[in-house]
Amino acid sequence: MFNGLEFIEKKRNNGHHSDDEMRALVAAVTSGEMPNYQLSSWLMATYFNGLDDDEIVALTKALGESGSVIKYPPNLHIVDKHSTGGVGDKVTLILVPLVAACGGHISKLSGPGLGFTGGTVDKLEAIPGMNVHLTMEQFYEQIEKIGCAISGHSVQLAPAEGEFYTLRDVTGTVPSLSLITTSILSKKLAGGADGYVFDVKCGNGALMEDLNEAKRLAEKLVGTSKKLGKKSVALITDMEQPLGIWIGNAVEVFEALEVLSGSGPEDTRELCITLGGQMLAMAQVAATPEKGMEMCAEALGNWSALRKFEELVKAQGGSVEIFTAPQKYLLTARHVHDIKCGSDGYVSKLAARQIGEGLRALGGGRLKQDDVIDHAVGVELCAKIGDRIEKGDTVMKIHYNEEKQLSFALGYFERSWEVTPHAEKRNLILAKVE
Ligand code: URA
Repeated sequence: MFNGLEFIEKKRNNGHHSDDEMRALVAAVTSGEMPNYQLSSWLMATYFNGLDDDEIVALTKALGESGSVIKYPPNLHIVDKHSTGGVGDKVTLILVPLVAACGGHISKLSGPGLGFTGGTVDKLEAIPGMNVHLTMEQFYEQIEKIGCAISGHSVQLAPAEGEFYTLRDVTGTVPSLSLITTSILSKKLAGGADGYVFDVKCGNGALMEDLNEAKRLAEKLVGTSKKLGKKSVALITDMEQPLGIWIGNAVEVFEALEVLSGSGPEDTRELCITLGGQMLAMAQVAATPEKGMEMCAEALGNWSALRKFEELVKAQGGSVEIFTAPQKYLLTARHVHDIKCGSDGYVSKLAARQIGEGLRALGGGRLKQDDVIDHAVGVELCAKIGDRIEKGDTVMKIHYNEEKQLSFALGYFERSWEVTPHAEKRNLILAKVE
């Protein structure tokens, strides 16, 4: 019989779990034998004491194999990408169709929002009718047919990771290097790709706030991938301020459509092209990452990536009207509140974390497991760090539905920004780990 208490006590006392024990733990979670209160306690013990490399590999495999693992023909060179989580990070929505439009094959298993960071699944759900939990057969067939699919974990794909993930989100156990690594890589394993590109976010709006921590996570992701027999590369990218200008769910789909149409904010575009170049080189579609970047820039300019996203949305049951009239078919909030600047100068702070927390307070993220997300609310940044701004200009616009939520959220937004006499623009790509 499974004894959850023994597991909790072992991790609390900094003990080591064998491969068999990790499999037993995950099986007990999947079957419901281990109740959520015991798993929460084990997660907290793991948060404090961590997992060693062998435990990380064992838990990753147990979670990744808790459902089916997709197997593709090896000649397809399927690649996958994962971000460690940020604010305004709509890259997956752009990158997946972008790489597929250039001839790559992408298998992408994503998650909903975690803590104050946004999640691809929540953003995709803002598209009316979109199926974001594909069965294994639907997922596989779609990749064969159109070259790409994006799905959340499902009953068939890494179901146990779904249990761990939703519980971590509401038990303060998200920013653990061991748990982030197993969470990300288990989904990658189930998705069946041969190689992974990681976007490890670093800064105030990331799970890893300083560069050394971000490097440790990047090394853990790359090192564990190697142990699992997979190719990988990690870019460490800036998350001191949100990515792009829109933060929310429906509004991030809107920004993705802009970038896919060849316009949109420069930082979002640059990151998608850079990650896309890495993926195309890994998939052996481009000779080098630089050649891959050229292909990506072309696919944004000639709208082939936009057309590919339309195919993906259609294949997953979503409303393709968002491509002709996004303002009409994507949900919009009822009210807008402007935050104004009181002096001339340069924006020197746009704390992504405060903005993410503010969005959550508006209803755009979850505080409890069963909270229902308001997909319409969002934040629009009118200036980024290093931009000149005059007294009376709007710093950011808050798109909200409920006055009560706005008054609570304003505390976060007001504390998120600063204007000073001088400020430099920030670099987006901070380091690469191979
Ligand atoms: N993304 C995930 O899928 N899991 C984490 O734990 C963090 C980011």
